[in-house]
Amino acid sequence: MAIIYPYLPEGRTFKFVPDGYPFLEQAKQARAKLAGDPIWPNGAVLVKDGMVVAKAGNGFDRGSHLVHICPRIVEDCPSGQGYELCGLHDPEGHAEQMVIKKAQEAGVDPVGADVYMYGHWWCCKPCWDAMIAAGIKDVYLLDGAHEEFTREKVHAPYLVPQIKKVSLLGNDLEHICDSVSCACKEIGCTLSLELSKEDDVVMVHFGEEGASVFSHVTSLGKPVVLFSLEGIDVPEEILRDSLLAYHLVYRLDTSLQKKIKNILIQF
Ligand SMILES: [Zn+2]
Ligand SMILES: [Zn+2]
Repeated sequence: MAIIYPYLPEGRTFKFVPDGYPFLEQAKQARAKLAGDPIWPNGAVLVKDGMVVAKAGNGFDRGSHLVHICPRIVEDCPSGQGYELCGLHDPEGHAEQMVIKKAQEAGVDPVGADVYMYGHWWCCKPCWDAMIAAGIKDVYLLDGAHEEFTREKVHAPYLVPQIKKVSLLGNDLEHICDSVSCACKEIGCTLSLELSKEDDVVMVHFGEEGASVFSHVTSLGKPVVLFSLEGIDVPEEILRDSLLAYHLVYRLDTSLQKKIKNILIQF
């Protein structure tokens, strides 16, 4: 049966190779090492004249250590929507475009080269446009990629809750305490109002002493989810802190439980 792709330019098609095929194997390694997108990691290599000339992972090559709490998941965006909310999922950071850019940066002309990709089963329009503009000949995928790299197999396991212990700190907790405690209950993790070494994640409400609470928490090296009421100014240096995993700006009239749950299941 023909595979229906969400997007495929006219006159183009994919080619397929079996698992373990050497160039595909290198794309698989690029996926494991370079992909900065933990939600749907993807890797690609560019092959020219029988040689791998560039490797890249989606999520701007930032590497698999990255904690990424995707606003698209927090906000329950339908498939294909809300990309503007997330800097990591920008098409420019997709493996196809990254691998072309890296080849060009290394002084290799991608005209006539092939792309081998491991981790996905189709390419979005901006990536096809970029590949066609760069003169890419063929795109190779894993045999049966459309059955291997599905929402159920790639995306869903990522959203199985992993964390066990969460703490909540800061002033004015009454605004969010109930939502946080219900969300924790839903995913089966324990919540405490004291910082402990065992915490997987610390939630900080940015109230009056937000800045000092935040620096106390980050001194322990814990990932932080920060809450602030709309209109409250959170200092730039906090928003840039590498331990800040997510910043949720909330309004008093909106329910937070679902969003908090959507944040916690991504750790
Ligand atoms: Zn994202
Ligand atoms: Zn793409």
